[in-house]
Amino acid sequence: MAQAADYVDTGNPAVGIDCPRCGLLTARFGWFCRNCGFRLWPNAKAAARAYRTWRLTDPARSRVHQWDDLPPIDEGAQILVVDFEERAHELGIHIFPPSRWPFLVCVGLLFLGFAAIPINPIVRILLAVIGIVFFLFAIAGWMQEDVKIFPADDPGDGGPGGHGPAH
Ligand SMILES: [Zn+2]
Repeated sequence: MAQAADYVDTGNPAVGIDCPRCGLLTARFGWFCRNCGFRLWPNAKAAARAYRTWRLTDPARSRVHQWDDLPPIDEGAQILVVDFEERAHELGIHIFPPSRWPFLVCVGLLFLGFAAIPINPIVRILLAVIGIVFFLFAIAGWMQEDVKIFPADDPGDGGPGGHGPAH
């Protein structure tokens, strides 16, 4: 059996070629031209063999598929890293800094929710007390943290939007 079809120019990194008949871009190692059906390789086996030989020549070609006409897009290059805090600062938007206190506020609300279940009144009162204590404690902690992070830089103006675009 003739092995002439085994020849493949491994030095050429091109993934797609212009079809010799229609001139349109098609997968280099596809058996037929995608556009006009022109037979690029004598048979499927020869095309696959040529593709394999070409691909193994260079590790950078490992992600190229036999039917690709363009090199695959590097996934790493597609990841956009956005510093939202910096972006918000540019736009004058106030992003609240991360805080643990809101979780404790929710714990308080959880106990208050339990207190709403019609069970033994003494247990309900106990749960309500726990919930209220947690809730108030967490709100107080949160407010204190806010005061700490944003010291009053303009004591005269305590109007609405206290943490305005002055930052
Ligand atoms: Zn063609």
